[in-house]
Amino acid sequence: MSSKKRIAVIPGDGIGKDVIPQAVRVMQAAGAAVDLTLFDWGADRYLADKTTVPPDGFTMLARDFDAILAGAFGDPRVPSNIHAKEILLGMRFKMDLYANVRPVRLMDASLCPLKGVEPKDVDFVVIRENTEGVYGDLGGVFKQGTLDEIAIQEDVNTRKGVERIVRYAFEYCANQRKLDGSPRGRVLMCDKSNAMTHAGGLWQRVFKEVAAEYPKIETEHMYVDALCMQMVREPRPFDVIVTNNMFGDIITDLAAGLHGGLGMAASGNLHPGKTSMFEPVHGSAPPIAGKNIANPFGAILTAAMMLAHLGMKTAAEKIEGAVLEAVRQKKTTPDLGGTLGTREAGEWVAEKSSRR
Ligand code: ATP
Repeated sequence: MSSKKRIAVIPGDGIGKDVIPQAVRVMQAAGAAVDLTLFDWGADRYLADKTTVPPDGFTMLARDFDAILAGAFGDPRVPSNIHAKEILLGMRFKMDLYANVRPVRLMDASLCPLKGVEPKDVDFVVIRENTEGVYGDLGGVFKQGTLDEIAIQEDVNTRKGVERIVRYAFEYCANQRKLDGSPRGRVLMCDKSNAMTHAGGLWQRVFKEVAAEYPKIETEHMYVDALCMQMVREPRPFDVIVTNNMFGDIITDLAAGLHGGLGMAASGNLHPGKTSMFEPVHGSAPPIAGKNIANPFGAILTAAMMLAHLGMKTAAEKIEGAVLEAVRQKKTTPDLGGTLGTREAGEWVAEKSSRR
């Protein structure tokens, strides 16, 4: 049997189709031992034959692959966004990928809009709960279209769901190091328990219980509004942040602004021991799709994150080092101040990765 890791590649829609080919070429240039299978799931396929996910698609992914590299889903030709929901939320929910891990690492001071902030000052991670909250689409609308219309959106928080994501954050803190090699040491739980008392109360209780099992790790709590302010005033103290699905979605866009914008942000959707899925934080960005201007570095760093997860640390480090060099030398797309196109930036990083 081949020792190569089997990767399902799903570029999806919009700029997903621009950036994922660059992530693939960089992985190959870095010599990663991967066996890639391309899937056409996305808006084009849906519009052609109404398939979002083929029958048993998620079972097949979990059975036949070590990991999934996905691009982005969303297309103006499918206003209901049904295919995106079924593919992306389907993978997260049906494959139970409960931990969305989003590293926030500043590669170069020039990428941060804050004054006097050095790369070592922004090196934290957001661990976002990925299977519950408001994303289950529970609720309904009553008396629609009348002046008495009522819309209810439920926020689901289960004991099991909260406990496993909080525990994941403590384990991450105990086992992962910062970029400079220093240990991590603090987990911050972010909620809105002053307003959302029932859900917040559960998070608060579980956080305290799990924290007691990790006496060496410092703990902290912040309301999400205060955290947003703190993130742009003084990001240095942040280390590991754990939060629910929606707050995680929002604060990671804010955090992306600290390290170069959405085009730089990587993420993994994980369930320890199961086939996990890796995707850049950005969406399909229809206005810039197909124009060779999207920044491929978020997707490339996502591929590096996937390789590290699969035990290919050397290839991952080669890729991260090459992206760092590209950023420092301004071999980037215009969003980072460079003049290269998506393909040219990918080619530059691929070439550097192959030489490291
Ligand atoms: P979502 O799927 O989250 O609803 P979206 O497709 O509407 O998102 P995003 O992809 O999140 O939008 O991006 C919003 C904007 O950020 C884009 O229109 C674009 O200007 C910018 N952006 C996002 N990703 C990139 C990228 N890789 N390179 C350059 N700009 C980007």
